[in-house]
Amino acid sequence: MILTKNKNIVPNKNITYFLNPDYIYVPARNIYVKDGEYVYKNQIIADKTSSSVSGKVLGIKKCNIMGKLKNTLVIQNDYREYFKDNNMKMKFTLPNILKILEKDKVLFDKFKSSKTFDNIVVFAINDNPYVYNEVFLLKENINDILWFYDKLFNLYTCSNNLLVLKNTDAFVIDECLSTLGSYPEIKLSLVNDEYLLENNEVLGKYLKLKGNILFLSVTEIVKIYNLFKGKVSTTKLITISGDAIKENKVLKVKLNTSLKDVIDKYIDINETCDYIINGLMNGFKIDNINNFIITEEVKSINIMKKRNNKESKCIRCGKCISICPYGVNPVSLKDKEKCVDCGLCTYICPCYINLRERLK
Ligand code: SF4
Ligand code: SF4
Repeated sequence: MILTKNKNIVPNKNITYFLNPDYIYVPARNIYVKDGEYVYKNQIIADKTSSSVSGKVLGIKKCNIMGKLKNTLVIQNDYREYFKDNNMKMKFTLPNILKILEKDKVLFDKFKSSKTFDNIVVFAINDNPYVYNEVFLLKENINDILWFYDKLFNLYTCSNNLLVLKNTDAFVIDECLSTLGSYPEIKLSLVNDEYLLENNEVLGKYLKLKGNILFLSVTEIVKIYNLFKGKVSTTKLITISGDAIKENKVLKVKLNTSLKDVIDKYIDINETCDYIINGLMNGFKIDNINNFIITEEVKSINIMKKRNNKESKCIRCGKCISICPYGVNPVSLKDKEKCVDCGLCTYICPCYINLRERLK
C-alpha cells in the first residue's frame, strides 16, 4: 500500500542537536535517590531507568508520559556530563548475546528463536509518513553499525545479509554504498516507500527470502552494539515534522527532555495545530505539549494544521474491509483480535470514522 504524502514535508538533511536541557523528567515509580542528591549520567535512579544528565535531584512532578499523567523525577542538569563507567564490556559470543538481552524480551526472543539464521536483515525503515529516525540513525552510525553487522553474521555464519533502505532515501544511499565497499558480504536492498514494511512478516514476504530470518531495525542493532560496548544510551533521535511548521527536523535530544523545551527552541509553528505522537497512521493526539516528556518510546511528533474532518455515518462502501491486510472487518469487528493497529482502515474511510479507536 503506497500512502499519499505531501511532498513539501521533507526533513532538513542535518540532525539538530539539543543535548543541554535545563531539566530532565525521568518516569519514576520506585525511586532510588533523594531530593537534593547528586546523580551521575547513566546512574540508575528509578526502576530500570538511568539519568541522561548529571546534576541535582529536585523532586517529583506529574508529567504526560505517552498520553498518561505519571510521576517523574526532575533532575536539574549541571551540564558536566559526569558519569561512572559500569564496566559491562563483554566478549561477543552467542551465549553472551542472550545474556546481555535478558531484560529486552523482544530482542531476546528474536535471538533465542534459532541457533542459526539463513538471513540477517537490518532495516532502516519508519512506516509512518514524515518520520525519518531510522535512516538518520543509520547515517549517523554507519561505520559502527556495519562493523557490528559484520561481527554478527560471522558469528552466525550467515550468508545472506541485507541492509534494507527505502529507495526514496537517496541522501543516505550514496553514503551507504561507499561504506559498504569494505563489507562485500552485506548487500544493499532498496525497497519502495510502501506502508507496513517496518513489519517483519510483511518485509520478509516483500524481499522473498527463504529460510529463517533475523530482522533487526537500525535502532535494535545500535542498542545491542552499545550493550556490548558497555555504553548506556542517554540520547535519542526524534522527528518533528508536519504541515503546520516551517522546517521539518530530526533532532538528537537527551532522554526524558520536555517536548515544550525542544519546540520553544527549534520549531516555528505557523498556525493552530494538532500534535500527534508516534505517527499519523497509528499514533495518538495530545491536547497540549506543556508537560509532555520525550521518553524512550517517543519516535515522532507530527505538528499538523487543524482539519475540519467531521465524522459522518458509515455509507457501507467496504473500503475499510478490503484494505485490511489482516482480514479484520472493522465495521462488524469480526476477527478484531487479528488487528495490529496499522490504521489503514481509518486512513481510507471517506466518512472519517476512527475505526482504530473502535477496535480498541
Ligand atoms: S487497524 Fe486493524 S482493522 Fe484496521 S486495517 Fe489495520 S489491522 Fe485491519
Ligand atoms: S470505510 Fe468507512 S464508510 Fe466505508 S464501510 Fe468502512 S466505516 Fe463505513
